[in-house]
Amino acid sequence: MKVVLQKCFNYNLEDMQKKIKYSLAEIGALNKINENSKVFIKLNCVGPFASELAITTHPMFVKAVIRIIKEKTNHIMIGDNPATRDIIHTLKKCGIYDIIQEENVTIFDGSKTINIENLQAKIYHSFDVSKDMIDQDVFINLPKLKTHTLTYLTCAEKNLFGLIYGLNKSGWHVRANTPLVFGEAINDLYGAFLNVMQNKLIVHICDGITGLEKDGPSTGGSPKNSNVILTSYDAISLDRVACEVVHLDYKKQFINVIANERKYGIGNLDDIDIVGDDISSFNTTFIPPKNSLSSFGLRLLKKKFMRNILLEHPKIDKEKCIRCGECNKICPPKAMQIKKGEFPHLKNKQCIRCWCCAEVCPQNAIKKSKRPIIGKIILK
Ligand code: SF4
Ligand code: SF4
Repeated sequence: MKVVLQKCFNYNLEDMQKKIKYSLAEIGALNKINENSKVFIKLNCVGPFASELAITTHPMFVKAVIRIIKEKTNHIMIGDNPATRDIIHTLKKCGIYDIIQEENVTIFDGSKTINIENLQAKIYHSFDVSKDMIDQDVFINLPKLKTHTLTYLTCAEKNLFGLIYGLNKSGWHVRANTPLVFGEAINDLYGAFLNVMQNKLIVHICDGITGLEKDGPSTGGSPKNSNVILTSYDAISLDRVACEVVHLDYKKQFINVIANERKYGIGNLDDIDIVGDDISSFNTTFIPPKNSLSSFGLRLLKKKFMRNILLEHPKIDKEKCIRCGECNKICPPKAMQIKKGEFPHLKNKQCIRCWCCAEVCPQNAIKKSKRPIIGKIILK
């Protein structure tokens, strides 16, 4: 499977258009889109965050992709399923709404859902996903390249968790409430997506021009220039190469390790055809999330009671917290509680360490506590 690497140092529209067009031509995708093709552009728009925070797909990157696709077809629909807020509010805060209006593209409504199935799933066989996302001929996924406190890295495959509408995602964190089971769930979903999209065109184009390191995928992360655009038909190959580009430890990118084992794509670097710029010329190294887990740690945490003994928990920084309640709204088991006008309060034993609260917090007010000493020793 081919992954195209393009160096790109800024969000200059013409530069990006040239490089993305080259990448799409290199994998042969442009010839497969014609004037009758209905295209969905899937953003990475987890919440209402300004573009300079590098949490969401950059507005100019979105514009570059829209412009390229518009040369082929005008049937374009765009959007994402943000975690807690509606799509219009989110797009406005992310700086993408005006661009979509200028380009006269349709914003989708994720609330109409359809059930998709993966009969070969390991744990979960069916998922309700947004109908308009998969009812098109072409699906273009625009993930951001980011570290992730729960999953280590998030890129093309993990961005497809956004097929699930709004707060329904939260329910999946309760069902799949250990990291490895969550990894299996993401892959069960990915398998269902591949099934339903058979005979359709799927293309992943990653905005890694500025990515996110440290405690991503939201305000806990720090923007870092990784100067790369990655393009592929295969999310698994793309994510594997992305991990290499920013010099992270692939063994810890467990969602992709699982995908490779299940043969949902190619995760072995030797079997991926990397074209475009030389991978050895990318010299950015991302700092991984604090206390990221080894495969031993991940296996240990399959026992749910272990997480309270071994893991850090969310801690509210009262200097930063504005008492907006977003953390309470998203918290899958309602471990984060809040009374009107007060600071949130954590019911530690109920917390499943999904870190959704930190993901939606607009203030970066949710930090990791210190890891318990026993956790430090065992998970070292
Ligand atoms: S911790 Fe963050 S999300 Fe929760 S109430 Fe405070 S500011 Fe809002
Ligand atoms: S408090 Fe945060 S980390 Fe704990 S379960 Fe709720 S959202 Fe997840």
